[in-house]
Amino acid sequence: MSVAMKAPGRYVQGFGERKNLGKSIRKLGEKFYFIASPGGYRRNGEEMMQIIRDAGKEVVFGEFHGETTKEEVFLHMEELKKAGCDAVIGMGGGKVLDTAKAVAENLGGIPCVTMPTVASNDSPCSGVAVLYNEQGVVIKALMMRRNPDLVVVDTEIISRSPARQLSAGIGDALATWYEQRACERNHVKTMARGTVTETVSAMCRLCNDLLLRYGKEALDGVKRGQYTEALEKVCEAAILLSGIGFESGGLAAAHAVNDGLAQEPQAHGAYHGEKVAFGLVTQCVLEHMEEKELHALLSFMRDVDLPMTLEQLGVREIHEETLRRAAEMAVVPTQSTRNLREGITAEEVYEAMLRADQIGRTFLGKES
Ligand SMILES: [Zn+2]
Repeated sequence: MSVAMKAPGRYVQGFGERKNLGKSIRKLGEKFYFIASPGGYRRNGEEMMQIIRDAGKEVVFGEFHGETTKEEVFLHMEELKKAGCDAVIGMGGGKVLDTAKAVAENLGGIPCVTMPTVASNDSPCSGVAVLYNEQGVVIKALMMRRNPDLVVVDTEIISRSPARQLSAGIGDALATWYEQRACERNHVKTMARGTVTETVSAMCRLCNDLLLRYGKEALDGVKRGQYTEALEKVCEAAILLSGIGFESGGLAAAHAVNDGLAQEPQAHGAYHGEKVAFGLVTQCVLEHMEEKELHALLSFMRDVDLPMTLEQLGVREIHEETLRRAAEMAVVPTQSTRNLREGITAEEVYEAMLRADQIGRTFLGKES
């Protein structure tokens, strides 16, 4: 099989980078459709609309209503067409960006710009948009013909985002290398429709290095509401490297367990990256990781406030039935657990989740 990778057209990151948006979008369109939530609009929207106008372009605002549903995407497509826009910008969290990406794709692949205001997930750089139903359950992953044309990361904005969001982003990015190396070992075909390139393999290792070296410092800075150079490194890891890493490096059990945990209502308050972090410990159990390596991983997770027990995910009472259902969902044929090793059963995943929980509790000294 051939090797393959995908990436955004241009990635730009820096303190106050939003102010350069006019220059960055010069060749991408004449009239932009700008999607943000009401809160996002209040914080940055007005300023962004003015920056776009100052660049001699027209812009129309489209309000995001909270969930990336088919209806939401269609509504924005209609508004965009009615206004005669020729490009779309999404500014906000993963769901706003995914809406912009789905709109661009459904309109034949018009130019698409993503501007993350949090570093909590992998959406900005990827060519995948996840669609949900009204209840917030995943119904479809829409593949774009190409990744966003431009990704603008303003680290000044991210330095003011909630620390827990950054912690979750570190969790999502932390799993990248472990999942990718499993996929590489097993010659898995990734979402880039080929096996893993050496390039992406190196990017995933770098992603891990940057997180371990700068993760805690960046997070501590954000907790104080302070911008740090460390935050630049962590954003590059969590947004650029992890974004390319999951798409062109492949996913394994950590993300499958995250998806499975949708079955556990008690965990609904946990962020994607937090559930992925617990999924990562589960994956380590399934891989029979050496104690020393696992211990180092858990130490880092504790340093950056990542959950490693079910209780930390909000699961106060463990119900065997629910947890078994989560494990079953993690091994359905479309799931990425099989990228770790063929033939992993729901029973194994169930046992591994319980073991991961126990390891986490022991590590935190909460074993009763
Ligand atoms: Zn993820």
